Amino acid sequence: MELNNGQYALSGGVDPLQLAERYDCPLYVYDSAIMQRQYHRLQKAFKVKKLKINYACKALTNINVLRLFRQLGSGLDTVSIQEVWLGLQAGFSPQDIIYTPNCVSLEEIGMAVEKGVKINIDNLSILEQFGHDFPNVPVCIRVNPHIMAGGSSKISVGHIDSKFGISIHQMPHVLRIVEATGIQVEGLHMHTGSDILDAEVFLRGAEILFNAAHHFSNLEYIDFGSGFKVPYKPNDISTDIEDLGEKLSERFNAFCADYGRDLSLIFEPGKFLVSEAGYFLAKVNVVKQTTSNVFAGLDSGLNHLIRPMFYDAYHRITNISNPAAKPRIYTVVGYICETDTFGVNRKISEIREGDILCFHNAGAYCFSMASNYNSRFRPAEVLVHKGQDYLIRRRETMEDILRNQMEAEFLTEKINAS
Ligand SMILES: *Cc1c(COP(=O)(O)O)cnc(C)c1O
Repeated sequence: MELNNGQYALSGGVDPLQLAERYDCPLYVYDSAIMQRQYHRLQKAFKVKKLKINYACKALTNINVLRLFRQLGSGLDTVSIQEVWLGLQAGFSPQDIIYTPNCVSLEEIGMAVEKGVKINIDNLSILEQFGHDFPNVPVCIRVNPHIMAGGSSKISVGHIDSKFGISIHQMPHVLRIVEATGIQVEGLHMHTGSDILDAEVFLRGAEILFNAAHHFSNLEYIDFGSGFKVPYKPNDISTDIEDLGEKLSERFNAFCADYGRDLSLIFEPGKFLVSEAGYFLAKVNVVKQTTSNVFAGLDSGLNHLIRPMFYDAYHRITNISNPAAKPRIYTVVGYICETDTFGVNRKISEIREGDILCFHNAGAYCFSMASNYNSRFRPAEVLVHKGQDYLIRRRETMEDILRNQMEAEFLTEKINAS
């Protein structure tokens, strides 16, 4: 979102305040031009014969966003059978979907096999059972290379204590299972966590996968997962994709020459593709001056955007309905009956009751983590594309809150009797 002549505008000149007016707040708004920009940036950064970008859809699962990425030529990274179904519904062909679950039942994995998607296995016990039940279905193996990375211990998944992947030290055991079951290994995978800052981290993980790859003669692809950091604050450090692309491409091409075949290089970013494309607009219900603080209280809370409370994540907050005013210091809070703080001591241009605040970087892990806590409705979602706005999810209603609730007869009888 750009500030031009004192007014914020989305791509194509779309006015976010008009969207807030038309669809009401709180509201999620996604800018397709930014998703495209990020996709193409990634595509351009890697110079290998076969590059595949699989959008990790848990970041933002609106089916229109999935379709947008399919149109760009993306594949899909899924972590549940429901995301597999959603991907198929969005029109992805099964072979363009990879299913990377963690701690799910063999039964659920069987359902993914039935749909013909690529299967990524992340533990020895399941690999053994899978090889026994589906000896003719090729698999990818999720390796934990034990490199420590990531912005917070909650989102770092590659370290030694992590529940993700099969430890690289257990490779002999993997090979015994492969031998015994005759299962085909078509891919190797790692995903070391989110918010990785350093190309060196990827390269260290890559070397570990390249070494492991020599144990398997029929590989089709190596999947390096994701974890690219995007800027959340102005001048924030972020993963230098171009630098990573150059270094990893060179190593990958050398590996392929050595391996004797051109494999596909796969990445599966979520945050990188959608974080900056999303904005969350919320209205200021109250400005509350206490003896120590000025609070701006919004018509939203951790039920709609939980990352600040859950991960201590920083989301830039701007006052888009009063952008030219003098900045003051605010603590921005929600209406949920718990500690519900979006940001402490933020410098924001003067906030009046009724103003519209915008949370930036609200594309990834924002709507997809929203809930109905406090029996609030989840917000509407709007996609801005080529200067037009499209409602891609309507705001919930009381019907949605009650949809799956069953009324126990003995309780309704009492109500009727009284
Ligand atoms: C969540 C996830 C991703 C995406 O991570 P980002 O940090 O959003 O890029 C990729 N791969 C797997 C297996 C995941 O679970």
